[in-house]
Amino acid sequence: MYKIMTPGPTQVAENVRIARSWECTNPDLDESFVEFYKNTCDTISGCLNTDHETIILDGEGILALEAACASLIEPGDRVLVLDNGIYGSGFADFVTMYGGAAELYTRPADKPLDSEELKCYLTEHHDYKIATLVHCDTPSAMLNDAASLCSILKSYGILTIVDAVSSMFGEPVDPVDMDILCGGSQKAISAPPGLSFVVLSPDAKAKIKERKTPIPSFYANLKVFFTYYEDKWFPYTMPISDIYGLAQAMENIKKDAALYQRHADCASYTRDRLRSMGLTLYPAEGYSNTVTSFLVPDGMTDKEILGGMLENHNIMLAGSFGTFGGKLIRIGHMGTNATMENVMETLDALEDVLRHLQLKGQENKR
Ligand SMILES: *Cc1c(COP(=O)(O)O)cnc(C)c1O
Repeated sequence: MYKIMTPGPTQVAENVRIARSWECTNPDLDESFVEFYKNTCDTISGCLNTDHETIILDGEGILALEAACASLIEPGDRVLVLDNGIYGSGFADFVTMYGGAAELYTRPADKPLDSEELKCYLTEHHDYKIATLVHCDTPSAMLNDAASLCSILKSYGILTIVDAVSSMFGEPVDPVDMDILCGGSQKAISAPPGLSFVVLSPDAKAKIKERKTPIPSFYANLKVFFTYYEDKWFPYTMPISDIYGLAQAMENIKKDAALYQRHADCASYTRDRLRSMGLTLYPAEGYSNTVTSFLVPDGMTDKEILGGMLENHNIMLAGSFGTFGGKLIRIGHMGTNATMENVMETLDALEDVLRHLQLKGQENKR
């Protein structure tokens, strides 16, 4: 088994794995499971300090993004797609797929979105129903100030869909001005992949209830969950063992008084060590406490670095993809990965791998 130091999936704690093996009831018919599901949803909302309602969905993080778009967007709705990364621009596909008129607000990928610039833009252009944005755009390790961007959008009555899949519970997230906040099980929550969830504001619920057209999906339809608790009825059979695991992972988070400090410490240690090795961080600002990325140094490839980490140290890091493919290496220090022992071991190993590759490079030149 490799030690996975990737920006999701992350290492899964033993008590989460054990919870997934708990005895199962019939989640359709046993009302105690409805209570368990609701308590797990309430724990997620509680850990975010919000009374916005959480709904857990049976599908990976991407399902939350798609369900948010499918449920909120009506044909012809103008949607502002805030984009400074791969997940940022990716929202345009979901918007278009569900009939929205996507308008890209594209800014450079190496800087966080600038709230003041958005404010200026909106004074002239604010005829949007909805905006989408990404808190941590994982492929480039970019952290945007989602709370401030949402409060600006909200001041124009624009509903916001926020992808915080790779930041939530590693970086503070305040849902107050976020209408549909999207999360997943396998990043900082450190449950296995398989579940996603949405945290809905009263405004989001109202828009969904008042839709004039039906939601053109069943599995990505959030409305079918609005009455599950009163009706004691789920739209489809819930993946009970996955939810047991998620509930245990959330208990671990709830009990962790040093959650955000631990992430901040691991991230700042990681950045310091990478800089001291002479590496260049990407981006140059907007660092996330959940993932750090650096440029592949000249004279070596991402595959050589990743391969050396696996073969000589049994540690898995991630490259990147899209426009960042081959250019970046990413270290995921989120959730269970975010301990000083893990990041120290990882950076010691990386130092060793880079030293070997540099020596090999010099020998090849001779
Ligand atoms: C991981 C991730 C998702 C979910 O992607 P999956 O392929 O379902 O894991 C969504 N958004 C961001 C920013 C992510 O990092």
